[in-house]
Amino acid sequence: SADSAYDYPLLIKQLLQSNQRFETEHQIVSGEHRFSYAQFNERICRLANALKAAGIGPGDTVAVMDWDSHRYLECFFAVPMIGAVLHTVNIRLSPGQILYTMNHAEDDLVLVHDDFLPIIDGIKDQLETVKGYIQLTDQPENACSFESLGEYEALLAKADTAYDFPDFDENSIATTFYTTGTTGNPKGVFFSHRQLVLHTLNMVNTLQSRNCDSALLDHEGVYMPITPMFHVHAWGIPYAATMMGVQQVYPGRYEPNNLTRQIREEGVTFSHCVPTILQMVMQSGEAADTDFNGWQVIIGGSALTPGLAKQALESGIQPFSAYGMSETCPLMSMTRMDKNSYALPADEQIALRTRAGLPSDLVDIQIWTPEGKVLANDGKSAGELVVRAPWLTQSYLNEPEKGAELWQGGWLHTGDIACIHPDGCIEIKDRIKDVIKTGGEWISSLEIERLISQHEDVAAVTVVGVPDERWGERPFAMIVPRREQLEAESIQRHLQTFVDDGTINKWAIPKAIQLVDDIPKTSVGKIDKKRIRAQLA
Ligand code: ADP
Repeated sequence: SADSAYDYPLLIKQLLQSNQRFETEHQIVSGEHRFSYAQFNERICRLANALKAAGIGPGDTVAVMDWDSHRYLECFFAVPMIGAVLHTVNIRLSPGQILYTMNHAEDDLVLVHDDFLPIIDGIKDQLETVKGYIQLTDQPENACSFESLGEYEALLAKADTAYDFPDFDENSIATTFYTTGTTGNPKGVFFSHRQLVLHTLNMVNTLQSRNCDSALLDHEGVYMPITPMFHVHAWGIPYAATMMGVQQVYPGRYEPNNLTRQIREEGVTFSHCVPTILQMVMQSGEAADTDFNGWQVIIGGSALTPGLAKQALESGIQPFSAYGMSETCPLMSMTRMDKNSYALPADEQIALRTRAGLPSDLVDIQIWTPEGKVLANDGKSAGELVVRAPWLTQSYLNEPEKGAELWQGGWLHTGDIACIHPDGCIEIKDRIKDVIKTGGEWISSLEIERLISQHEDVAAVTVVGVPDERWGERPFAMIVPRREQLEAESIQRHLQTFVDDGTINKWAIPKAIQLVDDIPKTSVGKIDKKRIRAQLA
């Protein structure tokens, strides 16, 4: 009844109360640091006390600027657990954009790693709400060039080892961060304790159920993120891994050889990243000495191409796809490999691994026409993918008009064109803004990329629409070759075979093909089509 004393709000602190409390063997590893879960829990309490001493309380916002580290993981917990909001700053944005996000989020305190002190130095006079800084460093003698409250380890050392984390409303905001801002200013998204707890439970379940051969992550696995912790909380997987009490490795700055060495030396069994990072790891010098067997990787943020999936499988890596976005916390769907999938011929297995997968539990999806009509899940009808789930951002931070647009008709609009197969599998066709409109036809840039990626001499590819007087737009391909002697005609001949078998129309073959050493990337390592289009225009 209403006067019952029973109340159990879903709070991030509860993720620390199950498995990992009894975990005695596994560690949190970061560079030279190795902490047991008991030490990790104590450090969270110490950090909470240090934050309180710095004047931080419920409703305040704490910004973190760091590479992926054990300290960042401690902030993932301590900051929201005291009722404050964690702002994971995208350190790859321009200083001007970083300044914009920190003022917009109204950050009160900034925890900043040595490497980002120059950025803060340049913008600190324009930071409107920041009252203090804490330095994150492994070289305490490396003094901060401006006044700070002190160095993280020194503050933790003198802080109390116990903290009584209070209960509060599960709808309190726990985290906030900004979209990568491909057009205009970055937009802020935000997630509550309740949403993150539900997302974490769902993530644990999804990781354990999507590969019948071997869970993507279970208690015996070794986890290392290669999606930055500032980007959608590294897909929320650090929360899941911590709740499970697994061995965790936080790799620091992403440098391909260093990442590969850690995968080998720490025996990493599970990671997640964007396609370009997987490519970089497989091509790193250290890869030659590394046995990737037993490493399962979820690729998301951009489509996994069949070419890259094949290269990964040949190296012993098990690639999976997941689909999500900043606005969705991010998990919406993931590949499922069951007994039947493993019985499929190689190319069909690859097709399965490169689709966006099956929706996760509690994720409702539909395909809509621009007028809001729901289309059939027949694997053919394509329209905008819309979604409902318990962990989606309610709006954009302090921008309700943009939030209303996102949530038109009561469903979150992904901005992606997709179809849903009769078996429930999502196939992303393209982003609405990346579709190439040529002579009244729509060409999926992703489909052309998939086909080109299957050419044996192609390491990476992107296809964008460029303005054309006659056709409106024409496809343009930028390719990183695997072999020097690759010629554009060879790509065109390869694509002609897909025209001949009716897969694509002949105007989908790019006339203009540019061979490059590197393709421009966004702040989170995805191919930056907007910049490529601007360069070509
Ligand atoms: P940004 O828009 O700045 O890249 P997000 O990380 O939120 O920021 O990107 C989400 C978008 O990435 C999705 O809307 C979709 O277009 C794309 N995406 C994510 N995962 C996949 C996937 N598995 N396959 C194809 N596209 C994907």
